Order: sequence, then structure tokens, then C-alpha cells
Amino acid sequence: MFKYKSYAELLKRNCELMYKTKYYELKELAHPQIIRTIGVRNTWRRLDEDCLRDLDTIREEWFKVHKSGIYVNRLDLGIDSRGLRPPNDPDGSFYSTHKNGNTFDLEPVNGKLRELYNFIIELCKSGKLKKINTLENFEDTLRWVHAGYMNTYKNPLVIYL
Ligand SMILES: [Zn+2]
Repeated sequence: MFKYKSYAELLKRNCELMYKTKYYELKELAHPQIIRTIGVRNTWRRLDEDCLRDLDTIREEWFKVHKSGIYVNRLDLGIDSRGLRPPNDPDGSFYSTHKNGNTFDLEPVNGKLRELYNFIIELCKSGKLKKINTLENFEDTLRWVHAGYMNTYKNPLVIYL
């Protein structure tokens, strides 16, 4: 249980009791239509906590080696469907796990896409990730690395499109 100084502070903390990523703003992780429609707090709540922690782990471990970050959504370029997608999103497949709040398409800032793909596979194998266990075969995506969660004992499960 956390300590609080006043009832007002307790209320505030209760409202904030959710994991928020260290390295990403919400708009980088969720489609603007969702944030606009259900609000910031409810959108954070739709994102899987363990997958958010994994995103921070991936970003942190990658930075240690490359001194460079990882993009998800890039709204300045009109790229808005790499994280949580609306039910009617025209991007990607209708039943995409991107609609579950546990799947993200990652793009390294330094452009080393294949390295990032292999890097995440190694993080999965080493047990450093809490939940992210599924990638799409890199040859099928090329411009991003799809990392998410599915119900499987494989770690990682690689999906061929
Ligand atoms: Zn994807």
C-alpha cells in the first residue's frame, strides 16, 4: 500500500493507478481516434500493463547498445496505427491483435530494423520480457518489427504472413 498525505492525494493516486511507459507518450501507443473518444485515462487502461513494461525494457536494452531510440506511432508522418487500433481501423487485418492493446510495431530510430528484430528475439529467448512473445517474420514486414502477445508456449512465436 502506498503512503498518502491527504484524501485529495489519495483520490489523485487512485485515478493514476496504472502503468505508464517511461519512454512513450500515449499518442505514440494508441490511435488518436481512441484517445479522442474514450479519453486519456481509459485509453491507458486498454493497454496491457506487462506489454507496456516490455516496451520500456526493449527500449532500454536497445538504447544501452545503440544509444538510439525506437519509434512506435509517428503522428508527424501520419503513422497512427502501430499501437492500439480502433475496431474499424482500415490498417491491418480485421482481427489484428493490435486491437487488444498488447501489440506494437516498432521502428528503430537508427534504421537498423533487422538488428531490432533479432534483438527482440534474443530478449524473448533470454526471458527478459514479461509478456511479449510473438513477432511477425521480418521478411514479411521489413519497415517495422511487429511485437505482441499471443497464447503460446513458444517464446518467441514467429508468424509468417
Ligand atoms: Zn503489427
